[in-house]
Amino acid sequence: MLDNQLKEKTSTITEEKAEFWKIDSSSTAKNCKNYIREIVDTLNLQPNPAKPVIALSIGDPTVYGNLKPSKETTQAIIDTVERGTCNGYAPCVGYEDSRKAVAEYLSHDGSNFTSKDIILCSGCSSSLEICITALCDAKKNHNLLMPRPGFSIYRTLAEVIGVKVKYYDLIPEKNWEIDLEQLESQIDQNTAVIVLNNPSNPCGSVYNEKHLKNVLDIAYTHRIPVIADEIYEQIVFSGNKFASTASLNSRVPILICGGLAKRFLVPGWRLGWIAIHDELGAFETEIRKALVSLSQRIIGSNTLIQGALPAILRNTPQSFHDDLITTLEKNSNLAFSFLRTVKGLVPYMPQGTMYMMIEIILENFPFNDVSEFVIKLMEEESVFCLPGSCFQTPGFMRIVLTVPEDLLTEACSRISEFCSRYYTVPN
Ligand SMILES: *Cc1c(COP(=O)(O)O)cnc(C)c1O
Repeated sequence: MLDNQLKEKTSTITEEKAEFWKIDSSSTAKNCKNYIREIVDTLNLQPNPAKPVIALSIGDPTVYGNLKPSKETTQAIIDTVERGTCNGYAPCVGYEDSRKAVAEYLSHDGSNFTSKDIILCSGCSSSLEICITALCDAKKNHNLLMPRPGFSIYRTLAEVIGVKVKYYDLIPEKNWEIDLEQLESQIDQNTAVIVLNNPSNPCGSVYNEKHLKNVLDIAYTHRIPVIADEIYEQIVFSGNKFASTASLNSRVPILICGGLAKRFLVPGWRLGWIAIHDELGAFETEIRKALVSLSQRIIGSNTLIQGALPAILRNTPQSFHDDLITTLEKNSNLAFSFLRTVKGLVPYMPQGTMYMMIEIILENFPFNDVSEFVIKLMEEESVFCLPGSCFQTPGFMRIVLTVPEDLLTEACSRISEFCSRYYTVPN
């Protein structure tokens, strides 16, 4: 190109404006919603500048630095980097050794997996995405049945592929057990999958074997496969026992989603897995292939974390897991015994995980809804809690139990002061 031609071209480009480009986003992108972000952004939260913010909202156990991964976990990464053998592409479903280590890790209490049943993913979110995409089809007018209150990612991942979501209710007074009758009433001929989340975010509930069996019986009767989000497996407080859906001989085909994020305290490392549990071989002809195909869209999860995975799973001592539970249980006792004395609040004691749900008795407060309660609490006390609307349960808010004890105590006393300032008895 001649110099003056080039000059001419450059000048017309700079004169052009953005609106000459009509670049529409795809309908897929338009259908993609992060419900927590959306709600939080519209709250327009302004903390009280006189008080440091305490965020009881973020489901990331690492933010305050009080909860750290085990030194075995850290060492496993250092060793993997130094070994230098995990720098290339791994198979899309993950390294054989790493999958074998996950199979071994999950094979207890009668659950039985081999490496063929494991697919490694980029975080548990990616596991959920692959499972939902493999089972749910918008063209067949499928729907996905999920808990309410429930983690909103299931909805996000279903709706982005045009799949509708239906809800089954949890009963707060029964430790958030599933309303089995209502669950069954929500099943129709287009229900492609039931999503279970045990232990639960946001409820902190831990289901006993009998309850899980009852749920799986319903799935069996209607021949509906299950996705079991067990990312909080084993994070249960004293007196409770974690039962994996895979350990119950239900004959229901189940895709178990899990990963390192919560129990090993490394959510940013993005290591999740799918464990295929299928006593009758119902996933044999199509779904196993579908999961592999979907894992091939993007090449798997980070190879350094995969390489470190066998050592992380085998070497992390039980005392590390016990210490995490001790801390969380202590914090949940602290928050519960404090907040139960606050008029207008009804906290529900969790049996595990990192969360507690608190009911706000709105008739005792001059607020229209929990979102307004949460906004004012932030404005005056700089304490941020997530409104239950993020989990389709408007009368509640959720707090996290992973913050340091002194901050949790401070947060509880600010919440308490705030409530006593506004509490009234309706006449
Ligand atoms: C945190 C969380 C996940 C996501 O785990 P990642 O491995 O970070 O993607 C999945 N399900 C529930 C219920 C969670 O709370």
